[in-house]
Order: sequence, then structure tokens, then C-alpha cells
Amino acid sequence: MILHKAAVCLGTILLGSFALSAQTPSTDEVRCRDLARATLDGVSITSTTLNPAGPYNTPLFPGAPAPTFELPANCVVLGTADRHAGADGKAYGIGFELRLPLPWNERFLFQGGGGTDGVIRPALGLTGLASLPALAQGYAVVSTDAGHQGFTDLSFGHDQQARIDYAYRAVDRVTVIAKRLITEFYGKPPAKSYFVGCSNGGRQGMIAAQRFPSYFDGVVAGDPGFRLSYAAVAEAWDTQALIRIAPKDSGGNPILAQALTNDDLSLVAKAILDDCDEKDGLKDGIVDNPDGCHFNPVALECKQEQASQCLTSAKVGALKQVFDGAVNSRGDRVYSGWPWDPGIASPAWRFWKLGSSNSAVSNAMNVTLGFAALKGYFLLPYEPTFDPMKFDFDKDPERVRETAAFNDAVATEMDTFVGRGAKLLIYQGMADPVFSASDVIAYYRRLATENGGIEATRKWARLFLVPGMCHCGGGPALDQFDPLTAIVDWVEKGNAPDSMPAKGSSFPGRSRPLCAYPEQTRYKGTGSIDDAANFGCR
Ligand code: CA
Repeated sequence: MILHKAAVCLGTILLGSFALSAQTPSTDEVRCRDLARATLDGVSITSTTLNPAGPYNTPLFPGAPAPTFELPANCVVLGTADRHAGADGKAYGIGFELRLPLPWNERFLFQGGGGTDGVIRPALGLTGLASLPALAQGYAVVSTDAGHQGFTDLSFGHDQQARIDYAYRAVDRVTVIAKRLITEFYGKPPAKSYFVGCSNGGRQGMIAAQRFPSYFDGVVAGDPGFRLSYAAVAEAWDTQALIRIAPKDSGGNPILAQALTNDDLSLVAKAILDDCDEKDGLKDGIVDNPDGCHFNPVALECKQEQASQCLTSAKVGALKQVFDGAVNSRGDRVYSGWPWDPGIASPAWRFWKLGSSNSAVSNAMNVTLGFAALKGYFLLPYEPTFDPMKFDFDKDPERVRETAAFNDAVATEMDTFVGRGAKLLIYQGMADPVFSASDVIAYYRRLATENGGIEATRKWARLFLVPGMCHCGGGPALDQFDPLTAIVDWVEKGNAPDSMPAKGSSFPGRSRPLCAYPEQTRYKGTGSIDDAANFGCR
């Protein structure tokens, strides 16, 4: 009987405590929920949810394998700033997702976007192929759609405010909002703030450093679309050159993907390696000394009666036209040329410049995204029916100048950013088919020239060139590195990154340092060529 009473009593206690936890939210749940009541001018918080700690197993995009990392408990805040009806009557607003982890490492990270944005990507803080997501490391992370909805939907170009938000204002607004919500949630502002992005996210990072110099302590700009306007013009240049030599379907329509075959591109890559690989002192499939590389595809032109292992003169001509870069009929440069790199044979290179569609409907990103962006956003006066295949390199480059003026991140005067001790780390794939490494190098050299020379500039801005790497990854490259750890160590410990350790799936078992420009990776002459310890920067 006593035993029975005790069991009933125990049951009541258990039931009581179960009921208590079901009905009374935890302190963290209350703090998270209460963020919905935060008053921020022009901001509506649409939801606040406390996620429990656990594995993150949602594919990052359709068809991608589920990632395998553990996240701490985190409060997810979804909101929209500055809702407005656009000039086209459509509804616009700057959407964002902020994730606030428990525990917090007192750092804030802005995760840059990509392409023409238009989606709010999960604010996990994915910053590099070898970086643990920042959220998993305890960073508060924010992401944004940059002011409009619809990835590759360029109709936001109809609205002046939406164009401005995409160009730079979303970075401003979302940073301020995120810092306010962080302060509200944790009771103090972030101790350090970082921006990390690649592609358009890299451009946003440079925008942050150049136009909002007090916002971030460290900025990582990967393969930055810092001259997105003229890169879009270059996409028209490349496509026009390649379409001209493309085989046609039965209806007489050119098939862009077949302009150069995979065998053609492999032949070029092999010839580049034959010419350039050993110029860094080591034949290892990586061109670490591009300055010593003077490859010319003319060397591959078919001699009389030669039918294989060579290129037709039309293909040689198109390749030269693409790699020499866009010019007008007077020879004035419209966009940079491109370095020759063996990454040209990578699917990640084809993905942009040629695509894989064996029909006249191209799926090359230069066409699907590039043409849409050129006619829908960059070109003014606004002309959404413009045909980029008819882009006139004498007359039309003028038409991107207005957008370039507010969209492109080309400033070099950054004394407030520098004066605060903030740091800028740029990395760039040498085989990037979207934003030319030559263009990024030219910017960095100009930055150095206008800031007291390269040694003075290296104190706060460093460039890491990644041989073989295509756009933000891919290619025969050591593309797995951790720029977030590098920038944090630089900002917080004063450890300027002379190099970053890197690996890559194209070279299993290999590790190497990626060196800060103008230094290049060099083999010390003894020991395994797959061990980073046997390499230095020179
Ligand atoms: Ca080499």
C-alpha cells in the first residue's frame, strides 16, 4: 500500500513536471520569442523560433547531399525591412534570416549572397570548403535576399529602390538590424563583426569595406564580382565569340555547348601545363607562377592534314578572343583579359562559358544568369527586351556606366576602415570563368599603389590567388581552405596570414600553403610534394 502510494506520488510528480515543461517556455524560448516585439523602424519580424541543438540535415539546394554538421540551439529570426510597392507595382522588401546560437562566441558574421540574390539562404555561415559553418562555431549569422524575391528573376530591375537595395543598401540595413537584434538578445553588442562571401557575396564584402567602413572588423571577399557590371558585358563578349564558331542544329541554330568540346578543352589544359607547370620549379599539375606562363593557343592550330590533337583556326580565334578580353573596335579595353590556367578543362569552367545543353537553348550561366542580369539590371535606360547577342562593344558599354557607379566595388580610399584596424582578405580562383583573376589582381595592385605600396597595403589587405580554381571552388585546385579562421586570427590575434593551408579533392592526400600575393607557393626542393611542410612562399 505504501509502495503503491509512493508510485502514484512519483507518477504525479513526473506528470507535473512534464506538464510544467510543456506549458512554460524556457528562458531561452522566451528571449527568442520576445525578439518579435523588438521595435526597429521599418522592420517587421515575421517569425522567431528556437531550434534545439542537433544535426543539420537539410540539403543546401535541391539535389545536394545532406550536410553533416551539428548546430547548437539557435534562435532563428525571420524578418523584412522597408517593405514598399515598386515602380512596377510589385511588393519589395529586404528579407533576412538571423540565427542566434546558444552558446554565443560574441561574434557576428554576415553571410554574403550570390548571383543576383533574391533568396534568403539559411544563415549557417558557410564560409569556405574547409570551414566549419560559423553558426556551429557559435557565431550569430545573418543572411539576406538583398531586397527582392526570385533567384535569377531580374524583374527587380524595374524598381529603382530594389536596384539600390541589391547594389549596396541591403548590406547596410541588414547589418544595422542584425546588430540591434543581437544586442537585444544577448544583452550586449557583438565584440567582433565579420563579413564573408563569395561571388556576389564577395562584391558585397568589398562594398561593406568601402562604403560602411565602421561596420566590420574583418571582411573576406571570395572571387568577388566587384566589377559585376563590366563582367556582365564580358559575358556577352564571350558568348558572341563562342556562338560564332558553334555547330548548328538542323534548324540552323547554334549550339553554344558544342563550340568547344571537352577534348578541345583538355587539349588546351594539357598544353598550358606543358608550357607553364614547371615555371614554378615543380611539375605537379599546378601553375604556381602564372607570370612565367606565356601560353598561346595558336601553337595548337591544326597543321596541314592534321585532324586530331589540334584545334581549327576558328576555335583558336575564338579562344584568343575570349582570353584577350572584351575591347571595342578602337582597341580600348571594356573588360580585363583572362589568365591561361589548366582549370579551363574543368566542368566548373564549362558550366559558365559553354554550358552542357546539346540544344540551341543554352544552359550556360553566362547566358541564363549573365544575359538576364545584363538586360534586366545593368543596362540603362532600362530595356528588358534587349538582345545581348547584339551588344555593340562600341556603343553599349556606356549603357552600364550608371549601374556600375553605384553597384561596383572599385574604391581604394578606405582610410576609416584601415584606421580602425579592420582587415580585408580577398581570394580568387585563377581559372574563374566569371570574374577574371587578372581583373582582381589589377584592382589589388591599384589598391596598393594608392595606399602607399604593396608592403603598406599588405598590413590590412591581402590577396590569395588559387591556381586551378574556378568560381568559388572546383577545378584542378586546392580549393579547400578556411578564410574565416585566417581573418579572425588576423583581426583578433594580429596574425597576418602569410599563407593559408589548403587541400583539394583533385589532388587527394596533397596539402599546400596558398600564399599571399605577390608571393607564390614554391617547393623547397626535398621531401614529399604532397606535404605542405615542404613548401614555402616566395
Ligand atoms: Ca607547378
